[in-house]
Amino acid sequence: MTGPALAIDVLTIFPAWFDGPLHTSLLARASDEGRLELRVHDLRDWATDRHRSVDAAPYGGGAGMVMRADVWFNAAEAVWNQLPPGATAGRDGPPPEARYVAGGRRPRTILLTPRGRRFDQSLAEELAREPRLVLLCGRYEGIDERVHHEVATDEVSIGDYVLLGGEVAAAAVIEAVTRLVPGVVGNAGSTADESFTSGLLEYPQYTRPARLRGLQVPEVLTSGDHGAVRRWREEQARTLTSDRRPDLLVDPRLPRPG
Ligand code: SAH
Repeated sequence: MTGPALAIDVLTIFPAWFDGPLHTSLLARASDEGRLELRVHDLRDWATDRHRSVDAAPYGGGAGMVMRADVWFNAAEAVWNQLPPGATAGRDGPPPEARYVAGGRRPRTILLTPRGRRFDQSLAEELAREPRLVLLCGRYEGIDERVHHEVATDEVSIGDYVLLGGEVAAAAVIEAVTRLVPGVVGNAGSTADESFTSGLLEYPQYTRPARLRGLQVPEVLTSGDHGAVRRWREEQARTLTSDRRPDLLVDPRLPRPG
């Protein structure tokens, strides 16, 4: 039996948050079929005090609390090395990046943060080629900067807005990446043809019934003329994209306006 196509470790203070997504729909099936292994870890297992605290007041003052680098260092090293919850690779010594990992390369370790690279389909495609991803979910005012530098290989944002925590962002990354793993979405054509992959937004789709409350589906789709259907879809995709997302039509080889 070969291992899963993709293993994803998530570090969070709310592991139960992932129970829903993990047990629902195609993610559940991908796990059942062994294509995806999703392991969710409780950051608090690496806290060192009685209250299992993972945050502290920011140096220099200011509102809110910041997540502690020592807890994150120990947790990330343990997850990289697949140690049990709370185990550490040793609490002292050089920062994690220098110490990793059985002589190999660190797994791709993604810290979710509004300051990160904007997540998009091309990054999803890049991540889907990795054997293993580690996702770090922040809370409170965010995470000590040393974790950004020493633990993360990537900083990723899912958009220009601020969430309460990294869990929703991690779930977005997990869904977008997992559906690109071969076999997860039934028909390979359905991931090749859709919005963004082709550089265009997807054309409109219709299904039964053909006539509903006086509304008829476009005639070309029921004509049986496959060439005409293809041309109609291309034209619709192009029109939709230029109306809604003209930025997608800009030729990337040309200099950007402004
Ligand atoms: N003070 C931080 C925001 C903290 S929000 C700032 O101004 O940048 C708390 C956590 O939610 C963050 O640590 C991050 O993990 C997550 N988060 C919030 N918005 C996000 C976004 N747009 N993309 C990815 N993660 C986000």
